[in-house]
Amino acid sequence: MSAGTGPTARHTPLDLASSGLLSSASTEVLEMASSRAVGGVVERPVQREASFLNDTASRVGQAQANNTGTVPGVQIGAVAGIGSSTYQDADPQITAELSSIFRNIHKIQALRDKYIRGSLQGPRDNPKDDPLWPVYPSPPEPAWSEDREKTGRGSQPPSTSTSLQNSMILNSDKQRSGDGNTEKTPDTPLRKAAHRKRKPGQDIGEDFDMEDVMPLPGSSEMTYRLDDNGVYQVYQNTQSEDSGSPIINVPTIKEYYVDLDELLSVSSDGPSKSFAFRRLCYLEGKFNLYVLLNEYQETADSKKVPHRDFYNVRKVDTHVHHSACMNQKHLLRFIKSKMKKHPDETVMYRDGKYLTLAEVFESINLTAYDLSIDTLDMHAHTDSFHRFDKFNLKYNPIGESRLREIFLKTDNYIKGRYLAEITKEVISDLESSKYQMVEWRISIYGKSIDEWDKLAAWVVDNKLFSHNVRWLIQIPRLYDVYRASGLMDSFEKVVKNIFQPLFEVTKDPTSHPKLHIFLQRVIGLDSVDDESKVERRLFKKYPVPRVWDGKQNPPYSYWIYYLYSNLASLNAFRKQRGFNTFVLRPHCGEAGDSEHLAIAALCCHSISHGLLLRKVPILQYFFYLEQIGIAMSPLSNNALFLAYERNPFHQYFKRGLNVSLSTDDPLQFAFTKEPLIEEYAVAAQIYKLSPVDMCELAKNSVKQSGYEFSIKQQWLGANFDQPGAPGSQMAKTNVPDRREEFRYRTLAEERNM
Ligand SMILES: [Zn+2]
Repeated sequence: MSAGTGPTARHTPLDLASSGLLSSASTEVLEMASSRAVGGVVERPVQREASFLNDTASRVGQAQANNTGTVPGVQIGAVAGIGSSTYQDADPQITAELSSIFRNIHKIQALRDKYIRGSLQGPRDNPKDDPLWPVYPSPPEPAWSEDREKTGRGSQPPSTSTSLQNSMILNSDKQRSGDGNTEKTPDTPLRKAAHRKRKPGQDIGEDFDMEDVMPLPGSSEMTYRLDDNGVYQVYQNTQSEDSGSPIINVPTIKEYYVDLDELLSVSSDGPSKSFAFRRLCYLEGKFNLYVLLNEYQETADSKKVPHRDFYNVRKVDTHVHHSACMNQKHLLRFIKSKMKKHPDETVMYRDGKYLTLAEVFESINLTAYDLSIDTLDMHAHTDSFHRFDKFNLKYNPIGESRLREIFLKTDNYIKGRYLAEITKEVISDLESSKYQMVEWRISIYGKSIDEWDKLAAWVVDNKLFSHNVRWLIQIPRLYDVYRASGLMDSFEKVVKNIFQPLFEVTKDPTSHPKLHIFLQRVIGLDSVDDESKVERRLFKKYPVPRVWDGKQNPPYSYWIYYLYSNLASLNAFRKQRGFNTFVLRPHCGEAGDSEHLAIAALCCHSISHGLLLRKVPILQYFFYLEQIGIAMSPLSNNALFLAYERNPFHQYFKRGLNVSLSTDDPLQFAFTKEPLIEEYAVAAQIYKLSPVDMCELAKNSVKQSGYEFSIKQQWLGANFDQPGAPGSQMAKTNVPDRREEFRYRTLAEERNM
């Protein structure tokens, strides 16, 4: 990468320091060294840092009182020649170049804003982020006794949180009666449900009963229709449908590609690239300096917090595929026990014959005794590097698709019963660990119209509900496969199969009752497949889905557009009805074209992987400015695409990108019973992460996750959505206020340039 070298080479260090092109880190390091030399007053910079903190805290408070809605325009800790103030006294030529760079950045910010707001993916857009949203089955009671012990020590008084808890239960009734369920007797369903408590880790799902959520909301007079361009449009009523005025105007595919082109041209603009590269280096240096100056104090802060440590802060596994959520030993134990206890159970129908479990194993020449981790052969460490095809085959135990079908599919002869049983075991382990949560990806392929109903029935009938689990729907980009097998003749069929049931259930929940209930626990959509597949631009203008009838799979951008546009309509519909909305959180930037990242920057809430951001500084800088969430899985990357030591995770973290750690596929990558802790542990060992770093990552994971606002408040503190020290509650997150304040000040400075 050539960005970032060039002009600097011609200047002397002195020039650089005064023009601000030299990263502030080096200047401050000089300053620090001199302060040491003067009289060994090492604490001097630390004290200054601390006084900044107080100063800033009050300014932040003030700015928030003004309530500008964006990051307030604070000029913090401006030292001559460092940070954003640097550019104010640059010479006219530089000023002109800088202002064109800033214009570029503002332009792409405005674009993202348009797409995120238009699809209701922004903060607080989701009705379930209303603090009064009833979570059913309700979360376990918090262990408030700890807080009571703490009251003398100046931490959050327990009454606030307890009253929140009370108000949640009380208001959940109110909310429901507002929804049209007018009977509000002392014996309302949710009140009944409140008595059906269970211990975490036991009787999974027994606190859920369909009866509790009946009756469902009725049909709405709003209507919807799939238009000629493959996008569902929603109308207030039949009259507005006739007049053709939908409730929201979703950007057309043409508009989308024009906007995308704009974003791409900015991201390849030379001066902007060098600028972004320098800012990113500056951010990294600044963090390193911060750590040098504050490490002892951070450790001291952590020690002062009673009870809390890395093990008991909440962490969400923000990216994990459900069919690979158990570790291998667990799956092996499960298969063996099924073989021993129920060999005569009929488990599949193949080639005109019903087969029992014993017969299946006979057909592959194996006994329960033979089975070991080695015969299971599902680990992907040695032979799958840059071979996504091979990796996909690792989903087959013993290389046998039959076993995958029996044990790891939701839609099979036994209706996914085995997978449900093992899922409950995993849930039980999660609940026992209490502080580990997951966002499981589960597939909807778009192959047939009844997939949603089957999936919802699998979750609801098996009562796979847990406080520790939320769901994302992953959509594999496999149109070419369905097309080749004659399953469909155009891409429009995929759009219909994925979205029609969602619109039906939003118009009238009673049409798919189980789907309605399942969707309350669904956060959003993911898009998955091998990103490194070659994508050829066949046409200058892409045909709409109805006429996309060739054998070619549409490119990533096309898939994401149709997920995005239909999601935007669906969200508008659902919000009007008071139902929870969804976000788009695709796999992106794992491999393949860096264009994928521009697409995500345009219209996706957050992404998984993001490895390729390391090659596109302007997008990386933009991800930083917008704090777009990135769920990273260095262990998974290590097996598939990028050696661990080359993973940009730690660099992103230091620069202040919004990263979290996730496991991706514990079945293939993990060795221990707690894959998420394993992921943190390896990162901590390799990168020498401090306990504060790990707690900050855990906090990021909760903020990125799709958990309800009220639950995040319980885990992170009542004001967690406010930036800096005011939003920090160290008693819950174990992240020192000074760290929060540093991150926020740094971000505010970049945003205000
Ligand atoms: Zn993944």
